[in-house]
Amino acid sequence: MLKIFNTLTNKKDRFKPLKDKKVQIFVCGPTVYDYSHLGHAKNYIVFDCFVKYLRQIGYKVFYLQNITDLDDKIIARAKENGVSPKALALAFEKEHLKVMKILGIDSVSKYARATSHIKEIISQIKRLEKKGFAYKINGDGIYYDISKFKNYGKLAGRTALDAEDSVSRVDYSKDKRNRGDFCLWKLKQHELEPSWKSPWGQGRPGWHIEDTAITEKFFGAQYDIHGGARDLIFPHHEAEIAQMESISGKSPLVRYWMHVGFLTVSGQKMSKSLGNFILINDFLKRHPTNYLRFFIAKNLWRSPVDYIESAMIEVKSAVEKIEEFIRRLKNQKVPLSRTAKIKNTNQNLKLIKKFQSDFWAKLADDFNTPKALAIMFDFIKKENKLLDKNRLSKKEANKICFIFENINKIFGIIDFKKINAAIPPKIKNLANSREKFRKKGDWLKADEIRGQIEKMGYTVEDTPTGPSIRPI
Ligand SMILES: [Zn+2]
Repeated sequence: MLKIFNTLTNKKDRFKPLKDKKVQIFVCGPTVYDYSHLGHAKNYIVFDCFVKYLRQIGYKVFYLQNITDLDDKIIARAKENGVSPKALALAFEKEHLKVMKILGIDSVSKYARATSHIKEIISQIKRLEKKGFAYKINGDGIYYDISKFKNYGKLAGRTALDAEDSVSRVDYSKDKRNRGDFCLWKLKQHELEPSWKSPWGQGRPGWHIEDTAITEKFFGAQYDIHGGARDLIFPHHEAEIAQMESISGKSPLVRYWMHVGFLTVSGQKMSKSLGNFILINDFLKRHPTNYLRFFIAKNLWRSPVDYIESAMIEVKSAVEKIEEFIRRLKNQKVPLSRTAKIKNTNQNLKLIKKFQSDFWAKLADDFNTPKALAIMFDFIKKENKLLDKNRLSKKEANKICFIFENINKIFGIIDFKKINAAIPPKIKNLANSREKFRKKGDWLKADEIRGQIEKMGYTVEDTPTGPSIRPI
């Protein structure tokens, strides 16, 4: 039984989709006006792992994400760069998708652009107007009247009265009925602004309406999970609830709201003025993808995470520990004698079984990846001891490898390609001759050969079952 922490109820809720084993999940996508940074990586890696986990435990998941390809920031940045907002958004969308692919984020079923759903957006605003939730300010736009929706604030735990900080540029107008009212359709203000035809005149959509227009098109009036970063709870997600529940009269719009904790850098919020922005591209120049995925998985998805460069030393050593374990399992060729095998297999099979049940139980408890990883390391420690004593059969080793391969399909923290890469015969020969010198006690010569091996990009470690070679 899966339980997840739900912002709407403020507790861990038992997860039950609307329709059998089908899950419809929507996650707020990027506003494409700049390169994606580590904060984006955290958010999208969390949901990538979570969706892959749901699929592995038998759910049929449709994972939808929008791409905000039109907003004030895009218009402003396009103006600065002397290009059209459309061209700027397309270029950064391409960049974002490229970097997501490098991060191994391939679980999204559909990316939906805001500007491809203008028809659906207009239809929603028309229905809101008809039901009396929307009003027009002449020369400005169409606004949502939050005082008309009695449940406004139920997600964020606020009331309509203290909603004043919901104002972003597009939502600003001195003529609004309530300070927290937000824009649904902005009438064209400047010649260079992109705009579309509508019953209210040329204009463009507000921010919140694109999400509900897109989710209604793909999922209908209600669906299972909505995810996003914590800072989107208010006003963005609150506004989505107000819009869709007013239109459909059905509640709740979403049953489970998952909000991912912030990522700070050296204790501070990433910001342009502090110059502490870490772009994903820059991170990947220094570390491989699986290190970032491990760093994210080692923290609870909804907790804040602080990134410091030195934390990657710990991450590197942890990932190498797993990879070395897999390498040892793969090299485990010696079948044990029949008696030892029977005696040991029963004991070890119990250990493997316990590891599996404990590991998956932690994931089922609010997708607690740090606790699941702790169980994994404990298991590795125990199995390494068996490997040291050569008390692990090839069959058991294969079984464990298979379990880890499946786990890795969710997390992407183990570089199996690196592990499986064949060691060149030249390196193997050098390692063999080093072993001969070592056995003779000629440490000087053995060290000299180790140095040669390292120069060629490999390292050799002495384990109780013989030398183990791996790429550095
Ligand atoms: Zn959104």
